[in-house]
Amino acid sequence: MNSKIVIAHRGASGYLPEHTMEAKAMAYAMLPDYIEQDLVLSKDDVPIVIHDIYLDDVTNVARIFPNRKREDGRYYVIDFTFNELLQLQVSERFNPTTGAQLYPNRFPKNKASFKLHSLQQEIELIQGLNYSTGNFVGIYPEIKNPNFHYKNGKDITKITLDILSSYDYKTEEDKCILQCFDAKELERTRMVLKSKLLLVQLIESTEKIKRLDYFSSYANGIGPWYKQILDKKENGKWIFTDLINKAHNLNLFVHPYTFRHDQLEDFTSFEEMMHVLFFEANIDGGFTDFPDKMITFLRKEKS
Ligand code: CA
Repeated sequence: MNSKIVIAHRGASGYLPEHTMEAKAMAYAMLPDYIEQDLVLSKDDVPIVIHDIYLDDVTNVARIFPNRKREDGRYYVIDFTFNELLQLQVSERFNPTTGAQLYPNRFPKNKASFKLHSLQQEIELIQGLNYSTGNFVGIYPEIKNPNFHYKNGKDITKITLDILSSYDYKTEEDKCILQCFDAKELERTRMVLKSKLLLVQLIESTEKIKRLDYFSSYANGIGPWYKQILDKKENGKWIFTDLINKAHNLNLFVHPYTFRHDQLEDFTSFEEMMHVLFFEANIDGGFTDFPDKMITFLRKEKS
């Protein structure tokens, strides 16, 4: 990949509740390179676009279906049919115990009206907008917790690949990147399920990265936590780990997560964060809750 790419993380999730159609449409209007979909299967095998296997921190499930929680007190996407899931209201992410909104300065919790939707519905939104606007925005689906799905008798990767294929996402040219944290499952996607899509191996924030050779045997890129790229700051300048050089030497592109202007931590400004990671560390793209800010930044750096 030649130019730096922007991935709308859960849509324009800095401005509207994550993974809603509204957040995806708003992200589309910003014209990122890709819009992300996290996928969890419903009871009747519909891939739902939602970040976790749980429902209770982004919906009103506890009020609508109070008797459907498991013994651990949580409500699971996989225990509900697609039609049941459509009855829920989605809101900005909150702590199900305290009710506190995770990012207090984002869209107010429980305001307006948002719903869950399927992978198919979101693909039709993005492909429809590609048609009506003449742009070509890609999709970046993530297979969530394949082992949890296996334990519940479901092969989420196979189901997802069949749907992607039916919408003409089949090869590296089709502007679809498939991502997963589970290395065995992503290897299986390439070697056993014979997918020809671009594959990204996500890397857990806690993982000591020793398996890049193995990742490069089936994946095209990696998605590390951005802090795995930063080593330390010396005399005001960042020193980096060898992750990017090693990945690039193995022909793996690097798309770290997550760029949030309301959660800066190591940096004093969002611009500094983007400058350091894109142009000093040389990442190839980034996941961001604020795609407009990253697009504006990259456009300015280019000119
Ligand atoms: Ca994701």
